[in-house]
Amino acid sequence: MKEKKCNECKIGYKKMFRIKYKELHYSNKIWLFVCESCLKLIKKNNSFYRYGGTWKK
Ligand SMILES: [Zn+2]
Repeated sequence: MKEKKCNECKIGYKKMFRIKYKELHYSNKIWLFVCESCLKLIKKNNSFYRYGGTWKK
């Protein structure tokens, strides 16, 4: 399987989280992968945050 990189910090991790966190992700049906530390920052005060599953290498 292709290596996934965090959409925020661009680093590849063994465990990634599939999320949406911007309004445009809903209208364009986009899911993004982020790492755990970026996820924590994104989740804060974000009404667009939606969890779509965990990916493990
Ligand atoms: Zn990250």
